[in-house]
Amino acid sequence: MPTVRFDPTLSRSAALKQMTEALAAQGILGNDARFLVLDLLGLSTTELILHGDRPLGTPDASRLEAGLARRISGEPVARIVGAWEFWGLPFGLCAETLVPRADTETLVEVALAAQADRRRPLRVLDLGTGSGCILVALLSELPNAFGIGLDRAHAALVQARTNADRNGVGRRAAFVQADWTAGLDGAFDLVVSNPPYIASPAIPGLAVEVRCHDPLAALDGGTDGLDAYRHILRNLTLGPTRLAPGGTLAFEIGYDQAEAVQRLGLEAGFGPGRVTRDLAGHARVVCFRPD
Ligand code: GLN
Repeated sequence: MPTVRFDPTLSRSAALKQMTEALAAQGILGNDARFLVLDLLGLSTTELILHGDRPLGTPDASRLEAGLARRISGEPVARIVGAWEFWGLPFGLCAETLVPRADTETLVEVALAAQADRRRPLRVLDLGTGSGCILVALLSELPNAFGIGLDRAHAALVQARTNADRNGVGRRAAFVQADWTAGLDGAFDLVVSNPPYIASPAIPGLAVEVRCHDPLAALDGGTDGLDAYRHILRNLTLGPTRLAPGGTLAFEIGYDQAEAVQRLGLEAGFGPGRVTRDLAGHARVVCFRPD
């Protein structure tokens, strides 16, 4: 891979153009160049517009070269920048958290649509909270809700706590280290999860951006990809964690898992699950409302 140099005398806007072209030459299109340049130069969009004619200087030129090399090697922009937007809110990331996906906003939409009264003091549980993106998005829309985010990874919980505080819902959020619902006592009005759901044999075939940069524990759903759903449904059936009467259980799923997850839910006594598609038209969420 040839190293791309940024001339320190280049203007910032010319540098953005060069970054865009260098990435396009590798087949990387879209907003990556803009996100990278803004973050690496520490500028807002407005600053880049107002001061786009200023020369880069040597430190910024080196930063752009290093960032470009990382992106070309397959590292996603979100990892280089260390943050990503979800539901219009900023989320910091760490090695133990999945990069929040736009597809996952479908889960938030379904969970919210199931609430007849968004002002109720709902009890929300997010299983495998990762960066906390789902829980934080929900709490930002449900002003009197209180939520618990569970995760196995301690570093993810630290990150989720920071994200909840940063987005103004920290006082209504608790983060607990646990393996699915293990040991958590109580009834919840809304249980959500975007668990690991990739079948283990499919993991080597994932794009390098995912396979090498998202945590394996957040991806690997066991032999058929359905282990997490089985665990969660069993735990919600056996207690002590329960779905409150009238409550909603909503899962993100892989595009080909709708029938299997509906069947698992039915077998566990949660009734028929309703499937919602994402913007790309893939089955993305199964929602159970047992009553
Ligand atoms: N709930 C987190 C998210 O949606 C983490 C999901 C996961 O790690 N599988 O980003």
